[in-house]
Amino acid sequence: MRDFSQDHYWLSINTATVRKQWPLDRIIDECARRGIRAISPWRDQVAAVGIDPVAKQLKAHGMGLSGYCRGGFFPAADAPGRQAALDDNRRAIDEAKMLNAPCLVLVVGALPGALAGKPQYKDMARARSEVHDGIAASLEYARAVGMPLAIEPLHPMQAAERACVNTLEHALDLCDELDPECTRMLGVALDIYHVWWDPKLEQQIARAGAGPQGHQSSRLLAYHVCDWLAPTRDLLNDRGMMGDGVVELKKIRGWVEQAGYQGFSEAEIFSELDWWQRPGEEVLDTCIARHKSSV
Ligand code: ZN
Repeated sequence: MRDFSQDHYWLSINTATVRKQWPLDRIIDECARRGIRAISPWRDQVAAVGIDPVAKQLKAHGMGLSGYCRGGFFPAADAPGRQAALDDNRRAIDEAKMLNAPCLVLVVGALPGALAGKPQYKDMARARSEVHDGIAASLEYARAVGMPLAIEPLHPMQAAERACVNTLEHALDLCDELDPECTRMLGVALDIYHVWWDPKLEQQIARAGAGPQGHQSSRLLAYHVCDWLAPTRDLLNDRGMMGDGVVELKKIRGWVEQAGYQGFSEAEIFSELDWWQRPGEEVLDTCIARHKSSV
């Protein structure tokens, strides 16, 4: 297992972590100033600054991406809605390519309309089948341009609104079905916040590393960290800073590395009540310190 205690060479910052404090261009400068080598930006943050200036700024700093957030949200009540989702995912893939992302993260979607409080149907099996078909269609385009897709399983508390793929096992089943040769064009983004509780976590991480035919071919394309606070006060925006909650981060990173993952550890903290209220400088400095001590 890699030693993170001496430096923050493998730290990436998911830019939502300081989205309330700064626009993306400032976030990039603040990360560069601290020797942070990678970020994972969100599409709306990129759009607010402009993708060309963002690409230039990253290049000037020699900064890379650990992922691009995000595609997905495939289910819809009708065919035009599903087509619109595919078109939007195509644009997301193109943007990810322009920014040289290693993968496009997919929050796959769930019951259409539920996020706005108006679910248009209640059939979870239908939502899951539309997710399956949406990923299959997007994967064709992703393969053509060479942009890997990373399915992010979300905690089941998000199953109605954001993602009906809720376990690593389910995400890997989809990978095996849609990419049986394990080409590394389809894999998973493993976010600790969503999977830490899963009794099959260790077993499924090992499966991600083994690949479907039993040879070493890791499906792990991204690794997101924060912490689970007990008690949690908000289902979406009360993520804890690494080390402040109940997740055994080092143990899980050991499993992930055992499975062949050697990439960035991406700090992703949505925190309405705490970290979004603090100065951005303090948030980034704390991420660096906790990356060394707790990740
Ligand atoms: Zn994540």
